[in-house]
Amino acid sequence: MSPQRAIYYNNFASHLLCAYNPNMYYLELPFRWSDDDWFDLAEMVAGFGFNVFEFWLEPRMFCRESLDSSVGQEYIRQMRLVIDRVHQLDMKAEMIVGLATVGGQWRTLCPGVRPDWEELRFLWRTWVGRFSSVDTVGIFPGDPGACSRNGCTAETYVDRSIDVAQEIAKSHAHIEIDFNTWGPPFFGWGNLVMPPDSQGEFIPEYQHTAWTFTEERTHRSMSHLVKRLDDFPEKTVISINMGFNPDGNPEGNQDARPWVREIARQRPILTWDFSLTEGENAVYPHYRFSRLFERRRQEREAAPYAGGICFTMTPLLNQLSLYEAAQSFKNPSLDPEDVAADFFVMLFGEEGSDLIDGYRLFEVIPDWGCYDAIEMPRHAYHKRMIQFCDALSDLAGAENRDVSFCPSLPAYRRELLWFAKLFSDLSSPCPDYDALMQSYWNRVYRIYDYLPQHVDPRPKRATKRLIAHFADWE
Ligand SMILES: [Zn+2]
Repeated sequence: MSPQRAIYYNNFASHLLCAYNPNMYYLELPFRWSDDDWFDLAEMVAGFGFNVFEFWLEPRMFCRESLDSSVGQEYIRQMRLVIDRVHQLDMKAEMIVGLATVGGQWRTLCPGVRPDWEELRFLWRTWVGRFSSVDTVGIFPGDPGACSRNGCTAETYVDRSIDVAQEIAKSHAHIEIDFNTWGPPFFGWGNLVMPPDSQGEFIPEYQHTAWTFTEERTHRSMSHLVKRLDDFPEKTVISINMGFNPDGNPEGNQDARPWVREIARQRPILTWDFSLTEGENAVYPHYRFSRLFERRRQEREAAPYAGGICFTMTPLLNQLSLYEAAQSFKNPSLDPEDVAADFFVMLFGEEGSDLIDGYRLFEVIPDWGCYDAIEMPRHAYHKRMIQFCDALSDLAGAENRDVSFCPSLPAYRRELLWFAKLFSDLSSPCPDYDALMQSYWNRVYRIYDYLPQHVDPRPKRATKRLIAHFADWE
């Protein structure tokens, strides 16, 4: 069997900025990474067992203005260096781009309008040209973004993606195409609600409608994709989850497995299951690995999956999740508890394995993709979090200097300790929730204090939700 593709997908889009993700858009603001930071990161994920580095050219970059702006130039310079570095580490590089959503306001151009389509073709041609050293270009429907105007449907997304893919294959023969079916399927195309006077603006209130599922739409659009598979370039893989819902669950009429098998007869398939490791804007250390490994086993039973993504927006905090995800592709029958023990022993020696009992307590907030949040009496939780703080403090100086880790191991241990202290304070008898909320915001999201209101309000909402979980916990 060929080795599974283990894709490290670092989503550093502008609504996912935080202290643990690179800031690629605001040169004068915090959380910028130096080239060396990037190289350290690449070395770490290669060491964990990933063999593909994937990034999203988000709409803020995927537009005409960013081609020549100082931010765009710096982005291009640094990402090219990163691509070179991951190649040196024997990893491949993949850039994914939403088919039609462009600019800082996440506007979706309509492929059915000639000037819009010409603009999109120009952007695809030019941006792929800027990153011609990638091995794979991924085309995905959007999220954000998609078009229902002027008769656009899911089939439009399939057809126009084939046009783009063919053009890329013609000009860059070495580049493989990764066509993504993300959504119910094909997020938003033909089902996103857009007001009658829409010019393709991003409207947060309507985004959920992109998930509207109907059997009729699914059958029609998936049949169309199957019919047109031959028209994609020879080197094409298809990313498709086992279910047509945000969690990729193969349930009821949203079970995608018959389509997955049908497609796998003609093309290699990958999983793009997004919520297995951390979800979006739930920034704290995660421990949700039984579902991760279970999903890998289900995928292998369902169809000849050739690997897929591990999503992260917190590579400098959730290194354990990355490590677990890489192992899950290599060997889905491993016990995730054993993998976690190996991880902490690798970092801190034999005593490191004692950290798991405390670390797992971080997974306490029900959230996208988290199905087994810790439940226990609040006072018992508080007591165990204090013990976990002690265990982390005791390991000072025990860090293994031979491990490639990013940031440094002492910094990582201190970061875990900070979160353990926060969760311990939040579960104490009479917390000052306002002060703790501010402290969390300052640590994690302070970059948004310097920015105008973002089109996506999720960082604020996520912070309130985290605090509310403890405030509502009797
Ligand atoms: Zn349209």
